[in-house]
Amino acid sequence: MSTTKETVFQITPKTDAVSPAERAALLANPGFGRVFSDHMAVVTYTQGKGWHTPQVLPRQPLLLDPAASVLHYAQEIFEGMKAYRTPEGEAQLFRPDANARRFRKSAERMAMADLPEDLFLDAVNQLVKIDAGWIPDPEVGTLYLRPFMIATETALGVKPSSEYKFIVIACAAGEYFSKDAGPVSVWVEERTVRASRGGTGAAKCGGNYAASLTAQQEAKEHGCHQVLFLDAVERKWIEEMGGMNIVMVFNDGSIQTPPLEGTILPGITRDSLLTLARDKGLTVREEPYAIDQLYADAKSGRLREVFACGTAAVVTPIGTLKSAEGDCVINNGQTGELTAALRKTLCDIQFGRTADTHGWVHKV
Ligand code: PMP
Repeated sequence: MSTTKETVFQITPKTDAVSPAERAALLANPGFGRVFSDHMAVVTYTQGKGWHTPQVLPRQPLLLDPAASVLHYAQEIFEGMKAYRTPEGEAQLFRPDANARRFRKSAERMAMADLPEDLFLDAVNQLVKIDAGWIPDPEVGTLYLRPFMIATETALGVKPSSEYKFIVIACAAGEYFSKDAGPVSVWVEERTVRASRGGTGAAKCGGNYAASLTAQQEAKEHGCHQVLFLDAVERKWIEEMGGMNIVMVFNDGSIQTPPLEGTILPGITRDSLLTLARDKGLTVREEPYAIDQLYADAKSGRLREVFACGTAAVVTPIGTLKSAEGDCVINNGQTGELTAALRKTLCDIQFGRTADTHGWVHKV
């Protein structure tokens, strides 16, 4: 299938969609990850034939053979991105090309079929077009898009699958963390690791998240919202959280975040915020930072703010880091000034409230 021109999707619209009034009620308070849109985009891959049969279908269960390789060997990758409603009522995406590129990298790491970036973007655009009515009002949230690929060959035996499905689904998304909660608390995980050098930490594959769940449970038991993982070798370098990157703000106005060395996900929000911080004239370091240094800097006052960032979490202040050794409170548990400023600058671009000088937004 040629991907130099727009792929033509065969569209089968849903005939029994909920009424506009029911949809409006669902969109008033959607929470996260539970209120799904009407359709899904599906493209099939078969070895020898390549990607074929691009379709937009009513959202429906998948028919999978119980021997489908994804169910046994976890050949699965995904992306997370959002469609935003602008003040003019239009739908727009934020850096979708970066998601398409990262998806290809994830596929390569997991020995899955290469999906051309144009095809990824066409599928996402098709779904947002047909389900634009599911984008909540900007005060409420966004339409979260979940492109993913699964290995569908019916065969046991550990080898790359010869068949795949690329699917895009969407759900309305309010705040990821409860709005009233303010800064979140984070559990510093000292027992398990998320990723090691040479592993799959930089790929967005389901297995990474399955492996993070016991730590997430532990965090919850300690009253924390999220987990902070440390490196696998020395167990002292800050890596990232379960589903977001981490950034430190110092009282000289500089910011620092762990470097991309294969064990953490190269977040698109992270990259965008580093660019926006440089635009503001701040010094930005992508360098390792030890957890004990963080505790010492928080105590001395050198460390002013810490925040988490990602598509779902946007920019979320971290108020407390908890570990077996005790609590470390950041900025008196308050949202920091730079954290709030960076969040506003980013959201204003994403929602089309300010000029996009970086060419990041794409109208659907
Ligand atoms: N790290 C992990 C482990 C994640 O799951 C995510 C969310 N995709 C991020 C970081 C942030 O990435 P992005 O800004 O591209 O959403």
